[in-house]
Amino acid sequence: MFEVSIEKTIACAHRLFGYCGPCEQLHGHNYRIVVTYQGETLDQYGMLVDFADIKKVFVAILDTLDHTYLNELPAFKDLSPSAENLARYVYLELKATKFERAKLSHVTVYETPTQLATYRE
Ligand SMILES: [Zn+2]
Repeated sequence: MFEVSIEKTIACAHRLFGYCGPCEQLHGHNYRIVVTYQGETLDQYGMLVDFADIKKVFVAILDTLDHTYLNELPAFKDLSPSAENLARYVYLELKATKFERAKLSHVTVYETPTQLATYRE
């Protein structure tokens, strides 16, 4: 089984609904977001999927989140924008794009260098 991953860092503001602690207040993160695809076979160039093809769709989705206040986006209107929910949001957005040999495996969101959440189906 092969796996390929791409990562990108975006800056967002958020606050967690009803959380008892500092994260209830408006604050920001430089989220490092990693998407991973997997598959069994490679193409004639020895690639599972062209990084450029993943990057196109991944960056397009993350550009809609970069430098936003996550709580104001429709996706998080009634959903606390935790790292877990952000990972699921990016996963579900990416799921619409299919690649011939590569299946979407998971999305990981690093809220800090040492705190991360992963979503997979
Ligand atoms: Zn936070």
